[in-house]
Amino acid sequence: MHECECDICQGGEDEAVKRYHRHINLVLSRLDEGQGRWYVASLSSEPGAPSDEVLAQITGLSTKTIQRGRKDLEGELVEVGLGRQRRGGGGRKKAEKKTRR
Ligand SMILES: [Zn+2]
Repeated sequence: MHECECDICQGGEDEAVKRYHRHINLVLSRLDEGQGRWYVASLSSEPGAPSDEVLAQITGLSTKTIQRGRKDLEGELVEVGLGRQRRGGGGRKKAEKKTRR
């Protein structure tokens, strides 16, 4: 599991931030490469999210990887093979509306 290298965790003063960053890396450790990229990309899209540089320190991913993840998300992951994706014969799924947070 990656250990966060951000200034806050290095300083060790803000336990809540430290725990949060630890949890991010914990989740990341259970995801594969693509999933991790999309997870961090979605974190980076949150209002008030840390910059890509800081997210790179937190997660150990490169800023390039995070940018790529964001691009994947913007493309609705269409370009990215899902492997297990259902080959639908039955029309559009209903859950297509986007929920913005
Ligand atoms: Zn941190």
